[in-house]
Parts: sequence; C-alpha cells; structure tokens
Amino acid sequence: MQQSWLTADPAIDDTLRRNVALWGVTGAAGFIGSNLVEALLLSGQRVRGLDNFATGHRRNLDAIRESVSEEAWARFEFIEGDIRDSALCQQFADGVDHVLHQAALGSVPRSLADPLATNDVNISGFLNILDASRRSGVRSFTYAASSSTYGDEPNLPKVEDRIGNPLSPYAVTKAVNEQYAAVYARAYGFKATGLRYFNVFGRRQDPDGAYAAVIPKWIAAMLRDDPVFINGDGETSRDFCYIDNVVQANIRAALSTDEARGEVYNVALGDRNSLNELFRLLRANLVENGRSYALDPIYREERAGDVRHSQADISKARRLLGYAPTHTLGNGLREAMGWYIRENG
Ligand code: NAD
Repeated sequence: MQQSWLTADPAIDDTLRRNVALWGVTGAAGFIGSNLVEALLLSGQRVRGLDNFATGHRRNLDAIRESVSEEAWARFEFIEGDIRDSALCQQFADGVDHVLHQAALGSVPRSLADPLATNDVNISGFLNILDASRRSGVRSFTYAASSSTYGDEPNLPKVEDRIGNPLSPYAVTKAVNEQYAAVYARAYGFKATGLRYFNVFGRRQDPDGAYAAVIPKWIAAMLRDDPVFINGDGETSRDFCYIDNVVQANIRAALSTDEARGEVYNVALGDRNSLNELFRLLRANLVENGRSYALDPIYREERAGDVRHSQADISKARRLLGYAPTHTLGNGLREAMGWYIRENG
C-alpha cells in the first residue's frame, strides 16, 4: 500500500492501516478534497464524498479512480449535492467517523463580486455540515479555515490567537466558521478543528477561470507562452504550501488527541516568498523540465482585498498535531510542474 508520503510518521500510517474508518470529505471533487480522498483510499480507508461541482470537476474523481486500485475505488461512495441542503448534509454525515469539510466558494475576488453566494455556501453550508455531524455523533470534525482571517493584522509571522479585521466577504465567512466552531464546543461540547490554510498549491488545482490561484494560473500561462500578470510590484509575499503538507495536517487533526481538538491551526510551510521570486522559480522549473518561457511578467494594479505579506507560525500545529511539512516550496513546485506538464502538454 502506498503510504508513508502521507504523514511522514510510521505511527500514524500504522494507525490508519489498522483502523479502517469511514471518512466524509466535502468538496471531494475540488483541489484539496480530491487529494484527501485519494490519500485516504490509498491508505485503506472508506470514503464518502460530497460535492455539487460548483468549482470542482468530475475529471478530478476520474483521476482518483485511475490512480487507485479497483479495490480501493470500491471503498468510495459519492453524493452529488449541495451543502446548503440540510437534509442532504444529514444523509452525508450519518455513519461517518471523521469529517473533513472542504466545500466552500473560495477566492477573495469572487466574494467581492458576489458576497451573497459566498455567504450562503460558506456560512449556511458550513453550519449545515457542522450541525449534521454533531447530530450523527462523528468522532472528529476538521474544517478548512483560512489565512484570510488574519485580515489587517500587521505582525509576521501570523500566530493563531492574534487576528485582525477581515478584508473581504470571503474572510468574514471563514472567521464566522471559526466562531461557530467555538460556540459548538462551548454549547454542545462538540469539538471542530480549524485548519487555516495558507496558499495551497499542487496537482489538480484548477488553472482556469477568473478566480484561479496564482501558481496554476501562471504555470498554465507559461506552458501556453501567454503573458503572466503580476498584481502590484511583485514584492507581495505569501507562505506557499504544497498539497501533501495539507493532506498530512488533515489526517493528523482527525486522529489527534482530544486535547488538540477544537483548536485552530495554521497549516503552511512557515516561510514566505514574493511573487517575483515565485515567477523566477517557476521559470527555472520549466527549464529543468526541458521547456522555456522567454517573456517578462507584466505588472498591473494591486488587487482589492489582498494582504501585502503573509507568513505563518506553524509551531502550534507542530506541537499539538505533530505536523511536519514534507515538502518545501522548491520540491512542491517541481512535483506540481511535472504534473501540469503531463496533464496539459
Ligand atoms: P476548490 O474550489 O477546488 O474546492 C472546493 C470544492 O467545494 C469544489 O469541488 C466545489 O465544487 C465544492 N463546493 C462548492 N460549493 C459547494 C456546495 N454548495 N455544495 C457542495 N460542494 C460545493 O477549492 P480548494 O482550493 O480545494 O479549497 C478547499 C477548501 O480550502 C475551501 O474551503 C477553501 O476556502 C479552503 N482554502 C483553500 C486555500 C487554497 O489555497 N486553495 C486557502 C485557504 C483556504
């Protein structure tokens, strides 16, 4: 069984192998969700996925099917539907051991363009899944929180208990998720663990559409010899985190001690790189892959709602979850680039 890359911890790998559980993954057809489903199936688990394909794709489910054995694929069940449907959420949660809630409308600009839709899915949908999970008595509940919750808090690195004012509707929804999680712990004793992801990237992240994230968008542009646009002067920095680190954090959070549950954790690399550095790294990466990109980036206006710098302090996740990133930006980009080249030629 392909395994050890998952948690980089033989004890956790062994626990997974010896205890087959039913995992409920919302947003299963999305970037992060589909990687969670694949990793869990590869480690012998049963998985129930839920997605309405709002931003996810059937091709992501097809890719999982191709990468796992027939026996593993038979351990996957899929519900097509909307997390805004509370009855459906109950059907999803019933019998599940561990919930990994990923479904949401991501992207700061999307939320500025349509705050109502983002609010509906990210707050009402979140509450539906949280409440259904509490009612069905799941063993653990882990959800995708966001670094956007730090908002205008100026200090670096970002520490979990020091947050500022949200700068976008999207950031409000993710902050409200954390507040609901805290209230469910206080009022019902139901602990939900929040993972504040920082700029995740890797295989199956969507390069297309107006709200694509920077890394897949730039890779796709470079592979087509299209121009790459940098918003602002390029010195904006982010803590870019490879998908395998995020998968590891989710599994560790689900299997954590009771003491570690119900907390909020930064999930990142704990480093930061500017957009200019990212551009240079991607260009060098293309060359390593026998390709090239001759154009210089085109600088344009800063985007509304964006924060200037972002870098996480990951010591809390290290201490309480045993989180230990296996991939740096460099080797993560190398794997991601290889994947995009194989997929898109
Ligand atoms: P994604 O868009 O690839 O995945 C989200 C999935 O949720 C999609 O498959 C989509 O179809 C599904 N979905 C959306 N609305 C739904 C609804 N109403 N009902 C059912 N399914 C629905 O995005 P992702 O990057 O995989 O993000 C996963 C989670 O991580 C999200 O909660 C996002 O806010 C959070 N997050 C991501 C990042 C990042 O850098 N990718 C950073 C911080 C937080």
